[in-house]
Amino acid sequence: MANSFIRVSCKDCGQETILFSRATTQVVCSTCSATLTKSTGGKSELVGCQIVEYLD
Ligand SMILES: [Zn+2]
Repeated sequence: MANSFIRVSCKDCGQETILFSRATTQVVCSTCSATLTKSTGGKSELVGCQIVEYLD
């Protein structure tokens, strides 16, 4: 999954968002503004969402 996208579901509101799996920036939910990923030392960590599926 080197250069893939993932579909994630916000834990707070259930909104699905597509993220680049190697994104290094913080991403927030477009619906409720919950933090979905945070940047930790050069790579992102999923914090407020769960993975629904991997996209090619
Ligand atoms: Zn949300």
